[in-house]
Amino acid sequence: MVSRRDFMMQSSLLGGGAILGTLVPGSLFAGEEKKIHINMHHIHTGERLHQKLSTHEMLDASFQAEMNRFLRDWRLNQKKTMSPKLIQLATEIYMQTGATKPMEIVCGYRAPKTNKALAAKSRGVASNSFHLKGQALDFHIPGVPLRALGNLAKSKKAGGVGIYPASHFIHVDVRGYPASW
Ligand SMILES: [Zn+2]
Repeated sequence: MVSRRDFMMQSSLLGGGAILGTLVPGSLFAGEEKKIHINMHHIHTGERLHQKLSTHEMLDASFQAEMNRFLRDWRLNQKKTMSPKLIQLATEIYMQTGATKPMEIVCGYRAPKTNKALAAKSRGVASNSFHLKGQALDFHIPGVPLRALGNLAKSKKAGGVGIYPASHFIHVDVRGYPASW
């Protein structure tokens, strides 16, 4: 049972009802506390994050700190507060695929200097990327076709979804309105 106080804390941490409201009805994170499974491997750092916890525990500062560290700009070793909504979205997508192997993380936070350097090299990197705000994640899940993964992400209507077959990852962000490429 979620108390009103806990609910208020949850709402304020996540930035109010708008955040939960953008996920589809029946979302893991709507309603009462549930068990979730976070299973990520970062392809650049080689680090692994594997946790079974509750939707409630995801709101703990210690969990948030762990995500900020895990999804840091690995080139410069700089951290940013990662959007809780983004973590929710990634978790929901992962759990819905039924995958058992870890989600392979290609990019989380990107510091301004890194983004500038990448944008100068590639037209695929936006100068105002949501990665700069801790609101975007690039990943793939072994055993899940990229197109199917992209379609699942789009069905969440949480923000942008880009499919990059040549680089073998999808980009998701929580800009708050659907966009796809
Ligand atoms: Zn991206």
